[in-house]
Amino acid sequence: MQRLGMALCVLAMAACAGEEAAPDAGETSGGCTDPRYRDGVCQVDIPCGVPDVDCYVVFKNDLDAATWAVSRTRLAPIFPSDPRFPRARAIVDRAWDMFRAEVQLGDLGSMRLGLAIMDDHTVNAYVMADGEPGKMGFSVQITRGMIESSLSDDAIVGVVLHEITHLVHHHALISVAQKTRKYYIADLGEPIGATRPENFPARDAGRAWRSLGEVNGVLTDEGYGAFPTGGAFANLWDHYTWKLYDLMPECTDVVNRVQILRAHLPSSPLDDKLPVKPALTDQIDSTLEGVRACVSAQPYTLDQLLADLGDEWREYVTERITPAEAQVFMNAPAVDAVLELVKTRRKQQRAIELDFEAQTGAPWSKIRFFSIEEMADDFSTRIGQRHGLGEIGVSSTMFALLEDAAPACVEALATPPVPYGKNLLSEHHAPCWRIAHARQVADTVNGTSARLRIEPTGETWTPTERETPKPLY
Ligand SMILES: [Zn+2]
Repeated sequence: MQRLGMALCVLAMAACAGEEAAPDAGETSGGCTDPRYRDGVCQVDIPCGVPDVDCYVVFKNDLDAATWAVSRTRLAPIFPSDPRFPRARAIVDRAWDMFRAEVQLGDLGSMRLGLAIMDDHTVNAYVMADGEPGKMGFSVQITRGMIESSLSDDAIVGVVLHEITHLVHHHALISVAQKTRKYYIADLGEPIGATRPENFPARDAGRAWRSLGEVNGVLTDEGYGAFPTGGAFANLWDHYTWKLYDLMPECTDVVNRVQILRAHLPSSPLDDKLPVKPALTDQIDSTLEGVRACVSAQPYTLDQLLADLGDEWREYVTERITPAEAQVFMNAPAVDAVLELVKTRRKQQRAIELDFEAQTGAPWSKIRFFSIEEMADDFSTRIGQRHGLGEIGVSSTMFALLEDAAPACVEALATPPVPYGKNLLSEHHAPCWRIAHARQVADTVNGTSARLRIEPTGETWTPTERETPKPLY
């Protein structure tokens, strides 16, 4: 019954979108007279306000799209002949019709958008680079988990609109994604990131903090001391402790306590880690002290650890420590070296936060970055809103992903501000903040707005490098 209702709605919507828009049908070169448009090479800076069709591998049917996606993800497909496929295909068609009615797309608007369903139980959807320089698959990949979830058709349309935004803005090309990132400060309430100019102190602090975060994770509270909580150094610590299983099996229990403690660090449901209480700091200190005491007879050094891990790790660590640190730590016991490096990075991250606060007068919690994710949320929200979609953008999916934290999010939405969280490393962080943001964007939509444009990236740049086709969600 439900399904029949949706099917009728799909047909009505498609007809409606067709009448309104018929995007650029019959126009040559989509109205773009730039000689580089459709010259066979992908260029992302053509100032026509439409995506360059040369950037896409277009599939004539979904079997081709599945074959392409399988070869790049190594996941099995759900074939177009599967009974679960038609509903997903109708959802993608509906999303693509809405999208092309609202966004100037030039020749791309008349292309067929592929669909591949991947046999993966997680709830997700993504697009991918092809692997050839400047090429993306003109296809949306949806997981079996999403199709089998309790998400409504409208909710999945919202997600597909988000993915199409990534495709037409060339976001699956990594360099474009990097050029899109922009830092700002949420002063005077919560502004819409797209409307804010870049704030330079925020940019410098954000970039420096993120590069330390890649090494050390996102937990910067002094109370964590030398505890390896995330990033590459936590990974290095894990490698060290696995090594200890062989070298000092009698320390296995003591070493495992670090992992157990890490898995149970307190966190709030909204992506915001809690301040560290003195009791936790004591527990961290005594756990690490336990490891130190147990391995004190073992002279295994950082240099030996890196030799065991191979050139890639040695290069990574060497590039991220100072020559003075190398001198002190390379021949020091690995346990002391890794923990001290962690502690120093955490201190540096905290210094960046304090310096930002002193310089701008804004608390660190007000730093924001506008990213491809926010842009994709903006588009999916606006398009969905103009088409009377029952769900706003990716909100329903965000709620589903919040799981047990959903009630806390409902409460935060009722009593703003909604926390942005500490995880500036992830483009997908702060799901509850994203719901608040989608509602805010939806409120700005009115029925008579002009069609949305694909703005060219600010500088001349032609993709020339091969990119690993890893999923962009
Ligand atoms: Zn995304």
